Amino acid sequence: MPDTSPRHIRLTSHAGGYGALPIRWGAPTAAERGPIVGTTSKPSHRNVIGTHSGSYSVYRALAVAAGALSREHKPDLTNTSPTDFIGPYPQWTDPARIVSLDPWGARVAEVFAGEIAAGYDIRPTIAVTKAHVILPEVIDALQKGRLKADGTVLTPGGAAMVTKAAIEPVWWLPGVAQRFGCSEADLRRVLFEETGGMYPELVTRSDLEVFLPPIGGLTVYIFGNPQDLANPQVELTARVHDECNGSDVFGSDICTCRPYLTHAIEECIAGAQRGGVGLVAYSRKEGRALGEVTKFLVYNARKRQAGGDTADQYFARTECVAGVQDMRFQELMPDVLHWLGVKKIHRLVSMSNMKYDAITQSGIEVGERVNIPDELIPADAKVEMEAKVAAGYFTPGHVPDTDELKQVKGRGLE
Ligand SMILES: [Zn+2]
Repeated sequence: MPDTSPRHIRLTSHAGGYGALPIRWGAPTAAERGPIVGTTSKPSHRNVIGTHSGSYSVYRALAVAAGALSREHKPDLTNTSPTDFIGPYPQWTDPARIVSLDPWGARVAEVFAGEIAAGYDIRPTIAVTKAHVILPEVIDALQKGRLKADGTVLTPGGAAMVTKAAIEPVWWLPGVAQRFGCSEADLRRVLFEETGGMYPELVTRSDLEVFLPPIGGLTVYIFGNPQDLANPQVELTARVHDECNGSDVFGSDICTCRPYLTHAIEECIAGAQRGGVGLVAYSRKEGRALGEVTKFLVYNARKRQAGGDTADQYFARTECVAGVQDMRFQELMPDVLHWLGVKKIHRLVSMSNMKYDAITQSGIEVGERVNIPDELIPADAKVEMEAKVAAGYFTPGHVPDTDELKQVKGRGLE
């Protein structure tokens, strides 16, 4: 049992530790950049605000409180190294390109071996592995002849071969502030205040520029050779997808999220089989980053309003409940593409203007935009689709006017 008896609380809200290694964000090599040290067992070694594992850091605290986890536990990283090498790419050392993840995060055991041997608790913030993904929609595409098994990208049983990477958020605050057009001081103050004062170092330790925020991260699924992502000569099919548990996992038909995701996966498999490479980046930004409680409240407000659920009121109802229409702020999203070395997306499977603008403004070229085929739009999701198209989302088809939007109706609650 770990010692969880009362003891002095060691505040880290003021400098005074020794042995903390400096971080020089964007430095040309890992050694010059320095490791991210978010350990809680040796406060003097810490060089960041917050700690590892994103939102799961709170569960780790529970495990310590429950006596299930020793405060002193250090991960044994034997055999955990990445299955595929990614980078380093020139974008890794450009502080304007990557501000919300640690590009060296998958390779800490290798590039910071000396510091780890010297006793620093340095943890990977990225893990890269391989998997077979089996989806009923892909099996259906195989049975209907839209996809063909080749035994390399797709097996006859419908399993797609992927390399996947899980990425925790690592924010370099000066760069994050710049993306959002605010001062670093204002960003730090608001992050402190709006989390109920969770991280005093945000306001007391301006010398600490890196924050490990307690939020969800993202996962990338790569179809084909991961190194090809950085080669603009190789056709890249890509989707950046924001989490929607109701549709992605449970098949709720009020939105197009899962059909869009599985359509993108089908396109990625077909692209990889043509000699290209496919990429799905999946961000934990549930319900436009408003969360699922807000999302379900909005569903009720939409379906109970006078006149029922109509496309012309789609964005208004979200704004009534949440105060904004969307909190995903795609400004940080392209970072993962730069981590993978992407310079050109030949086929972007998305209708979102916000995603398209963020990607192209970050310096990545986009060729064709691929939207979801009409036959894949679920019964109750027409309201969302038509509202988005009218609001300026990409479509190769007809853009409805105000009167037409009023006619697009969803189901009632009963
Ligand atoms: Zn959805």
